Amino acid sequence: MNHDRSRALYDRALSVMPGGVNSAVRAAIEPYPFFVEKGEAGHVVDADGNRYVDWVMGLGPLLLGHDLPDEVGAAIQRRASEGPMYGTPTEVEVELAEFVARHVPSVEKIRFVNSGTEATVSAVRLARGHTGRNKIVVMQGGYHGAQESTLVEGDAAQPRPSSAGIPQSFAEHTLPVPFNDEAAIREVFEAHGDEIACVLVEPILANYGIVHPEEGYHEFLREITEEYGSLLVFDEVITGFRVGGLGCAQSEFGVTPDLTTFGKIVGGGFPVGAIGGRAEIIEGFAPAGDVFQAGTFSGHPVTMAAGLETLQYAAENDVYDHVDGLGERLRAGLTDIVADRAPEYTVAGTASMFKLIFTREGPGRDALEEQCSAGCRQEPTCPRYDFCPKNAGDVKAAETDRWRRIFWGQMEDQGIFLSQNQFESQFVSYGHTEADVEETLEAYKEAL
Ligand SMILES: *Cc1c(COP(=O)(O)O)cnc(C)c1O
Repeated sequence: MNHDRSRALYDRALSVMPGGVNSAVRAAIEPYPFFVEKGEAGHVVDADGNRYVDWVMGLGPLLLGHDLPDEVGAAIQRRASEGPMYGTPTEVEVELAEFVARHVPSVEKIRFVNSGTEATVSAVRLARGHTGRNKIVVMQGGYHGAQESTLVEGDAAQPRPSSAGIPQSFAEHTLPVPFNDEAAIREVFEAHGDEIACVLVEPILANYGIVHPEEGYHEFLREITEEYGSLLVFDEVITGFRVGGLGCAQSEFGVTPDLTTFGKIVGGGFPVGAIGGRAEIIEGFAPAGDVFQAGTFSGHPVTMAAGLETLQYAAENDVYDHVDGLGERLRAGLTDIVADRAPEYTVAGTASMFKLIFTREGPGRDALEEQCSAGCRQEPTCPRYDFCPKNAGDVKAAETDRWRRIFWGQMEDQGIFLSQNQFESQFVSYGHTEADVEETLEAYKEAL
C-alpha cells in the first residue's frame, strides 16, 4: 500500500500542529496516521486512494455510516443554507430535547453543549452545585474527555493528575476506583460518603478495551449513591443511542441514573454534548438555577438538525437491527477464530461495539465450548470468567504492544481500519454490509 501523500501531509502537519494532529489519540498510529480523503458507506478512502473497511467510524458518532440517507442529508443542507447560527433559540433544539426526553429513561430535561468533554465538565459542576460537595468517584480507565476533574489516575488513597498542567489540588477531589469492584466503592463511601457529589461511570467501559459490567454492579451503584445522598451520573457519550437502541445503555441495564451525559451519536456526526436528567437537578443550571453554564455554539442548529434526523431515521428504520445484527455476527465470528488460533484472547463488546482483547491467559481450548458466544458478558458460568478483563488493570495487562505495533498494521495492510490502540472501541454502522463483515473476519484469520 502506498502512503506517500499521507506521509507528506503528516510532514507538513508536524510543522504547524503539535504532534501533527488536533486530538492526541490520532497520532497513536506509527510512524504516521493515514489522512482521509472521504468516506463511503462503511468505508474510508485515504489521501493515496487506498480504501479501507472502516470500523472506527469517527470513534463513535457515525451510527449511519458515511453516506447519510437522503432525508438526513437534505435536512442538514437546508439548515446550513439558512445561515449557520443566531445566538437565539431555534425550534429544532426543542424538537431534539423532546425526542431525547421521550426515549431515555433518566431524561426529563436536557442541556446541549458542544462536546462530550463539555458535557462531563458541566455535569460534574452541576453535581457539585446540587449536593454542595466537592469529591467525585470515577473508574480507573474510564474516560470522560480531556478535563481537569477526570484526568486523574492512581487510586482513592493517592489520586494524581494523569496529565501535566493539572494541579494536584484538583486531583485530590477525584477518587478513582477499579470498575466492577463493589468493595472498593463501599470503602470509598465509608471514608468520604458525605463529601461525594457523584459517581461518574460509563455503563460499559468503552474507552479501555470494552469491559462489561458484572451482573448487579449498576444496581449496586444506584443503591450506594442513594444511601449517601450522592448523584449517579452515567457517561453515555459512547453508549448513548448505541447500546439499548434509543433508550441507551440505562434502559438495557434497567438502572436509571440521576444525570446522563451524551455526545457522539446525538449530534449526528457534528460537534455535540448534552447533560440530561431529573428536572429538579437539571434546573440547577443557570438561568433557572445558580450553576453557571453557557456556550456560543450550544444547541447549534446544524448539529441539532443532524442529531434529530439521525435519531428519527433510526426510530423509523431497521438501523439498530442492522448494526446490532452485524455486531453479533462479527463477535461470533471472532469467537470462533480465536478459539482456533489464539484461545487466550477475549472477544468483547455488545450491540454494535466490538473489540478483541489480547489477554495473555485463557481456560485452555477444551473448555471453550461453553463460553459466551458473541462477546464477554462477565457470565460466572463461562469457562473464561476467571480470565476475562473485569477492569482497566486487566486490560492494561494484555498484549497492548503486540496489538498496536504488529496487529494493527497487519489489518491495515489488508484494508481493514481498526481503532488506533488496544483500548478504543470499534463500531458497526448502518453503512456496513455482510460482505464487510466477512472480509474483516478473513483478515483477522490471516493476522492472528
Ligand atoms: C468520547 C468520550 C468523551 C469525550 O467526548 P469529546 O466529544 O471527545 O469531548 C467523554 N466520555 C466518553 C465516555 C467518551 O467516549
